[in-house]
Amino acid sequence: MITEKTDPKLKIAMNQIIHHLKNSNRILLASHANPDGDAIGSLIAMGLSLDVLNKKTTLYNESPVPAVYNFLPAVERIVQHIDRKNVYDTAIIFDCSDLQRIGKDVSIVSRIPVIINIDHHATNTHFGDFQLIDTFACATTEIIYRLLKKMAVRINKAIATSIYTGILTDTGSFRFSNTNRSVFAICEEMSGLGVDPHSVARHIYETYSLGRIKLLGMVLSSIEISCNNKLSIMILTKKMLDETNTQPEDINGFVNYAKGIEGIKIAVLIKELASNNEEPEKPGRFNVSLRSDETVDVAAIAASFGGGGHSVAAGFSIESTLSDIKSKIINLAENCLGI
Ligand code: 5GP
Ligand code: MN
Repeated sequence: MITEKTDPKLKIAMNQIIHHLKNSNRILLASHANPDGDAIGSLIAMGLSLDVLNKKTTLYNESPVPAVYNFLPAVERIVQHIDRKNVYDTAIIFDCSDLQRIGKDVSIVSRIPVIINIDHHATNTHFGDFQLIDTFACATTEIIYRLLKKMAVRINKAIATSIYTGILTDTGSFRFSNTNRSVFAICEEMSGLGVDPHSVARHIYETYSLGRIKLLGMVLSSIEISCNNKLSIMILTKKMLDETNTQPEDINGFVNYAKGIEGIKIAVLIKELASNNEEPEKPGRFNVSLRSDETVDVAAIAASFGGGGHSVAAGFSIESTLSDIKSKIINLAENCLGI
C-alpha cells in the first residue's frame, strides 16, 4: 500500500496544502460535472471539515445532485452556479483528471488565485498550484480521509458517511480491483464513527425510479457483441431518456452490465448527450464509458479520443456520428485485443 506515509511526494504535497489551507479564508470546492458518489462525497466531506476550521466555503457542481445522494448531510449546500461577485482565495478541485471536467464555469474557477488539485486518476494532468494525486487511492474521499487525519480534524458521522459513500461507489460496492485492505480498514473506522452501511446502500441502490429500470431495459436490449465475443457495446439515446422521463444521472452503473458478460474484455456504453434529431448520419454529442476486465488499458483508448480515467474505467466525450464512433472503437479494440 502506498500512502503519504511511504511516498515522500504525497507527504510534501499534503503538508503544503495543509499549510496553505490554514491561511485561506474563502474557499470554493468543486468536482466533476455529472457527479458520482465520490464527486459528491468529496465536496461534503471536505466542506464539513472546513466548517470545523471556520473557513467560508462554497460547494459547487455544475450538475444537479443525483437524487440517490440526497440523503447525504449538507447536500443542500451544493450549488449549480458560482456567483461572480464572490471572491475566493483558493479553489479545491476534487476527482477531476483535468480542470475542464468541472464544466461551464471553468473560466471563473481558473481566475481563483490558488488551485488545489485532489484526485486519484492516473490520467490527471497535474493542473493547479498544488497537486495531491494518489493513483493508488480507491476514491478521492480516501485521499480526503488521509488529509483530514493529518490535519487532525475530528471525523464526525456526517463526514464519515460522505467518505464512506465515495469509497462504496468508486469500488463498485467493494467489487472492483481498487478494493484492498486499506479500503476495508477505512470503512471499518467509518462504521465505528456511526456510518450505517445498510442504510447508505439502500439509499444509493434501492431508491431507483421506475423510469430508470425501464431505461436499463432499453439499454440492455441494445447490446452488441463483437471482436470474437470480447467487446460489448451498448447505446443510450436522448430519445430513451425522454421516453422514460429520466436524467443522465440515471445511467450510473449501466456499463457494468455490459462488462459482466462472460468473456468480455472491453465494455462500452455510448451515451447520446445532445440529440441529432433522429438523423443518425448527422453528428451528435456523445459521452462514452469504457470498462475493462483488467487485461486491457481502456484509459489509453479514452486518451486517444482526448478523454481520461483509470486503466479499468475510463471515458471520453466526442462530437461525431454513432456509426463513426462505433467503428473507431471497434478498430482500437481489435488493436488492443490483438485481433
Ligand atoms: P464513467 O464511465 O463512470 O462516466 O467514467 C469512468 C471514468 O472515466 C471516470 O474516472 C471519469 O472521470 C472518466 N471519464 C468519463 N468521461 C470522461 C471525459 O469525457 N473526459 C475525461 N477526461 N474523463 C472521463
Ligand atoms: Mn473518483
